[in-house]
Amino acid sequence: MQIFQNFSLLNHNTFKIQVKTDFFIAIDSIDDYQHIFSENMLINKKKLFLGAGSNVLFTQNFAGYVIQSSENAIKIINEDNKFIWIECDSGLNWHHFVKFCVDNNFYGIENLAMIPGSIGAAPVQNIGAYGIEQSALFDSLIAFDFEKGTFVKLDKSQCDFGYRYSILKSHNMQNHFVVKVTYKLNKQFNPNLKYKELANYFAKNTSISAQNVFDAVCKIRKKKLPNPEILPNAGSFFKNPIIDEKKFLKISHLLPPNSYFKLDDGNYKISAANLIEYAGWKGYHYNNCGVYEKHSLILVNYNSSQGKELLNLAEKIINTISEKFNIEIEPEVVII
Ligand SMILES: Cc1cc2nc3c(=O)[nH]c(=O)nc-3n(C[C@H](O)[C@H](O)[C@H](O)COP(=O)(O)OP(=O)(O)OC[C@H]3O[C@@H](n4cnc5c(N)ncnc54)[C@H](O)[C@@H]3O)c2cc1C
Repeated sequence: MQIFQNFSLLNHNTFKIQVKTDFFIAIDSIDDYQHIFSENMLINKKKLFLGAGSNVLFTQNFAGYVIQSSENAIKIINEDNKFIWIECDSGLNWHHFVKFCVDNNFYGIENLAMIPGSIGAAPVQNIGAYGIEQSALFDSLIAFDFEKGTFVKLDKSQCDFGYRYSILKSHNMQNHFVVKVTYKLNKQFNPNLKYKELANYFAKNTSISAQNVFDAVCKIRKKKLPNPEILPNAGSFFKNPIIDEKKFLKISHLLPPNSYFKLDDGNYKISAANLIEYAGWKGYHYNNCGVYEKHSLILVNYNSSQGKELLNLAEKIINTISEKFNIEIEPEVVII
């Protein structure tokens, strides 16, 4: 373990915001968790668990301890004739894990290629794309409770996964650092082409492999999404709002065409991207930041923007959407 003081987070957030933390703890061994606990390092201190910083917006320096793990092992821990269970350390790069699975013919995860970030954050955010969320493959996780000094295991039913939500986001679990996550992959390939763009991509193909799907997802994503190394961003800044039927009937006349669909539970999911675009924000420049010209859900940092500038822009967008469509959109990005 290494501890750094007055540490720059510039290279630890994909918005490339210039902020510092009082302390940065870089964990590199499973023993470090107990060590940090027994030394009382975090008692009454503000703390932030950080992966690759690809879903956070820093709006100020962090007066406390940022904790990150670089442990990145992948281990096959069990298998039967249908499934294989793979345990990953939280510091492992998510895309690296997806590639490992595709290379080794472990299936089901290929649609989630190229999502930036770490394994540790994946269940916290319940990441998803192209018709699937990580919860579909999630088996269990081990977290360290920095309040009690113990490791706890959570299985899928305990995680309360929802759209970009898990129990780890709840107030009671804020002291739990995800240490390891186990995923259950299929041994047989069954392509998931529910997502329209993927279905269109493979419209003329009769034989599709997991590698094909992985490649297609990478290709589509490269075309659609800005590379944070070139144009700093944190992916979708806002979540798609979900409203009940009563609310939907009240506001449906305000919504742009094709901006919503009915979910199985009777609620309606509204495309925040459509609302933002319809409200005229797509491609908008605001000081040093703006709304990405090819995708209105993505806020970008054009030129050393301050986190507060991006937050101001986000608030302006939220207010217009509320005034125009009577819908409250919320950030997906974690504001710090
Ligand atoms: C270009 C781009 C495209 C993206 N596309 C998608 C997409 O398609 N789908 C999608 O769902 N997301 C997407 N994202 C968002 C992002 O990739 C995910 O949210 C990812 O899981 C964040 O991982 P991270 O390691 O960077 O987490 P961070 O940003 O570091 O942290 C995110 C949250 O998780 C918490 N956290 C991190 N690690 C741990 C840990 N070990 N234990 C406990 N809590 C922890 C943090 O405290 C914070 O609250 C995209 C982002 C970018 C930049």
